[in-house]
Amino acid sequence: MTMQNTTLAKPGTKVVRVGPDGAAWIEGYRCDECGAVVTVATMACRNCASRTPPAPFRATDHGTLYSWSVVHRSYPGIAVPFVSAIVDLHDGLSLKGTLRNVDATTLRLGMPVVLVFDDAGGAHDQNGAPYVGYHFVPEGVSE
Ligand SMILES: [Zn+2]
Repeated sequence: MTMQNTTLAKPGTKVVRVGPDGAAWIEGYRCDECGAVVTVATMACRNCASRTPPAPFRATDHGTLYSWSVVHRSYPGIAVPFVSAIVDLHDGLSLKGTLRNVDATTLRLGMPVVLVFDDAGGAHDQNGAPYVGYHFVPEGVSE
């Protein structure tokens, strides 16, 4: 997804990256020795102890539902209920996020979902720069 006001957009979380053209993606890190993937940069592989830092890669936007909770109570101003989900992306990363545009009674393990970048709930920094966040939707469902 390309965000408006692209030159000012900032990542809303540590895993989001925003390019100069406004395109957003999730950055993961993969070990060249064993293939393990993580969402944070490390000096060595946590899986095989290789001292070669895992290399950054641009994660896929497609994954499957690993687990979820339907949240019925939250902070003031946060609409409930919503689905808090853990998604396994097809390239090995696991992310937590909100699963939107779904009837919670139809959720099932392994259902295909798509990562969608958004405006992080309209959040801006002190200079007015918009943040870029993300959520998930079932595959085939619009944002
Ligand atoms: Zn490794």
